[in-house]
Amino acid sequence: MTQVILKKGRERSVIQRHPWIFSGAVQKSDRLRPGQPVDVISAGGRLLGRGFGSPDSNIVVRVVTFGEEPLTDNVLRARLDDALTWRTAHPRLKSRDAMRVVNAEGDGIPGFIADRFGDTLVFQSLFAGLEPKKSLLVGHLVEKLGPARVVERSDDDSRDHEGLPKVAGLWRGEAPEGPVFFEESGLTIGADVMAGHKTGYYLDQCYNRSRIVDYAPGRTVLNAFSYVGTFGHLAASAGATSVVQLDGSADALALSQKIAAANQLSGIEHEQGDAFARLREYQTEKRRFELIVLDPPKFAAGKGHLEKAARGYKDINRLALQLLEPGGVLFTFSCSGAMDPAFFQKVLFQASVEAGRDVEILEHLNQDVDHPFRLGFPQGEYLKGLVLRVTRTQTNQREVSGP
Ligand code: SAH
Repeated sequence: MTQVILKKGRERSVIQRHPWIFSGAVQKSDRLRPGQPVDVISAGGRLLGRGFGSPDSNIVVRVVTFGEEPLTDNVLRARLDDALTWRTAHPRLKSRDAMRVVNAEGDGIPGFIADRFGDTLVFQSLFAGLEPKKSLLVGHLVEKLGPARVVERSDDDSRDHEGLPKVAGLWRGEAPEGPVFFEESGLTIGADVMAGHKTGYYLDQCYNRSRIVDYAPGRTVLNAFSYVGTFGHLAASAGATSVVQLDGSADALALSQKIAAANQLSGIEHEQGDAFARLREYQTEKRRFELIVLDPPKFAAGKGHLEKAARGYKDINRLALQLLEPGGVLFTFSCSGAMDPAFFQKVLFQASVEAGRDVEILEHLNQDVDHPFRLGFPQGEYLKGLVLRVTRTQTNQREVSGP
């Protein structure tokens, strides 16, 4: 059996069920072969768990079973079964047409993600240690879910750190002609599973998007960083008076237009551009909104980028708060895992001070229930959001402020 022996004192996190073994924690290691189980042993000779190795990664082993539990293919199948079974029984998920069915470490299958959109299954294999097992994992999901087609989107940048080439394409079945359509919160939505972002669509925001219907009726809406526009489409269908979908991607906006047409939604404008620049222009034009959504991409790739990321979040939120009418509502998100929810909230407070707005918190939001993360693996928590309301009291009269 391949063994990895840890340095003295480095066993604690594994005992606490953290699945990642970093190269710096390793005293001695046999040659790691992806797909071959590895025993993780403490300096004192105790078996701590078993996992798979990734020879070119900084995370050399990802532990799958802890303590004495054997690690076999059947353990992986059982993890998949568990992931499918609880979702099938969950009241919020069971009637959903699209959801994440396997959430990597959160479901005990490191680096393996699978999203289902109607009868299309899209997967990402992001960990070299399990790359040789992807046929087994996908084969089991096909057996249980019976999708019409399977698409691989293992083209995430994280593959670089694993020494893996990026691969994407049809895995099984016929390629879709254009977007794959599915239902979300009563609307028909499309995802470009072959070439769109990630697996084609952001399922982690599904519940949060549904919250917009409580705030949208009768309001003018700006959906910034809209991607294919679902926050905006839901707002329009709930009775928003107007909706602007703003994104940098022409492809995403083209699909948003198709989705608006498929749902016979009117009063939706599409604007392609840099959100930072466009929000500043709206300010100059004295344009105002009553509901704004800010769902930017990840600004902090890691802890080292936090300060710069914090400036980005503060700027964009300050701009949005200045564009809101008194009584206006802001849905604001951060998907940077390196920024914890308390820090994000502090950044928002700072933005409100600079914007001269008195702001209250109506709701705290996070990644949807089909994106679980383990208590022992806080890295799995990345998405946080707040629903904020600008009160009718302004803290000062500054119209434009900040750098
Ligand atoms: N809210 C979306 C997901 C947004 S993902 C949903 O519910 O599905 C982030 C989006 O920001 C992507 O569509 C990306 O194209 C866009 N984006 C990234 N940088 C941008 C920028 N500077 N200005 C405008 N859009 C940007």
